[in-house]
Amino acid sequence: MRVILSDRDQKDLHYEVECILRMFLPQARIDFAQTGEDAGPQRVTIATGEGEGAENAVTLDLPGFSGEEREPAPASRRDTEASVCRCLYRLLARATGREIAWGTLTGIRPVKLVRELREQGLSYGEIEERFTGRYLADPKKAALCVRTDEVQREAIDRAEPKGYSLYISIPFCPSRCAYCSFVSHSIEKTRRLIPAYLDKLEEELACTARIAREKGLVLQTIYMGGGTPTVLEADQLDRLLGTVDRYFDRSRCMEFTVEAGRPDTITKAKLEALARGGVDRISVNPQTLNNRVLQGVGRKHTAEDFFRAYELAKGFPFTAVNVDLIAGLTGDTLDSFQRTLEQVIALGPENVTVHALTMKRAADMIGEKRERLGGVSQTGRMVDHSQEALDRAGYRPYYLYRQKSTVDSLENVGFCRGDTLCLYNIYIMDETHTILSAGGGGVTKVVLPGNRIERIFNFKYPYEYIDRFGTILERKEKLYAFDL
Ligand code: SF4
Repeated sequence: MRVILSDRDQKDLHYEVECILRMFLPQARIDFAQTGEDAGPQRVTIATGEGEGAENAVTLDLPGFSGEEREPAPASRRDTEASVCRCLYRLLARATGREIAWGTLTGIRPVKLVRELREQGLSYGEIEERFTGRYLADPKKAALCVRTDEVQREAIDRAEPKGYSLYISIPFCPSRCAYCSFVSHSIEKTRRLIPAYLDKLEEELACTARIAREKGLVLQTIYMGGGTPTVLEADQLDRLLGTVDRYFDRSRCMEFTVEAGRPDTITKAKLEALARGGVDRISVNPQTLNNRVLQGVGRKHTAEDFFRAYELAKGFPFTAVNVDLIAGLTGDTLDSFQRTLEQVIALGPENVTVHALTMKRAADMIGEKRERLGGVSQTGRMVDHSQEALDRAGYRPYYLYRQKSTVDSLENVGFCRGDTLCLYNIYIMDETHTILSAGGGGVTKVVLPGNRIERIFNFKYPYEYIDRFGTILERKEKLYAFDL
């Protein structure tokens, strides 16, 4: 797919135009050229106008489709980009018979946009109009973002000026799920690396705590994720949590979450270790309660394992248990997804998080055929159903994010009952404050004055993390240079 631009100055349109094209044509090879260069048979042409009476014009040529969309040329460059994106979106929707519920909104943090617009003085009504008019978003998505912002406002206000969150990565899993897009290693192959990994992780935690202390930072939340942290044995969890306790001042820490994750790794002894170590929130994630689907996607546990692990967890005084589900797994149907959700709601967990399957995951799953009804995919209907059903059951959306590669660019949403929201999830998506990360695949995100973000990356794979640990510590020392 070649995109022909009438003007060299249109380079600032590249990113958004490519994002819109990818939402509809994820496999397309996209390149940009100027008018006069060879156009090729599949092309988009973009001509932007300036001055009174001028127009922006976008044409699309695909096998079996040719079309054009025009809009009056707006005065500002930013508005020109929005106008071109709307024209292109309409053409792609006509050509493919599909609608993307988020319209031309391509960002992964639409709720952060709501907050920014609210802080600029727009009312929620005006923000919803902005979403539906400027970005062509479905009114339901606009309302969902506003509702999520309402729920998370108070949590964002609780962030202290020198506050930060700590992320601890355990990138090991008992086996690899077919749809996995994370950096995670099956424990069968890497179990022998765990002791060395934990030694290094402890060193990195000690270094992180020292820097945070010297910078006068205040620890507000801790999140241990992966992977599956409960692949660690109870004594390993005891040791790791003891390390956190020894090095970090937790006196102003508001929550400590562990994504226990796979039900087949959860035992009474491990939950005892978590509770002893000060963990107050955990996740138990079945993804689906359809055993056939679980087997098909390589999850080596059953729905019964989930119920057992969930009951076990409820026997501990954790303030919240989260249950993760995925909409759109191979072999799942709308009926079966609805049954899963009904069973989860009947258990009444404090949090439920519904993820939409990502394209990468979908592509990895063989024989994938995704039905559509009225331009909406089955995954889209599952996502809509989850939001309606959880709303009826009294849950509130408290954080939301999108991933570039999700089926139909759909969103992932965390829901909570009452005030049981997870602050860490909000802070990381809103980029409220700095996140210091430790462990393989961890990304430290430093939030600086003027909303500037700097990132420090750890090596992804456990063997790299262990073998090149000196570099990890050197990178961490860069934190001293920032105005934290
Ligand atoms: S449990 Fe999560 S991180 Fe682990 S293999 Fe499955 S999808 Fe990947």
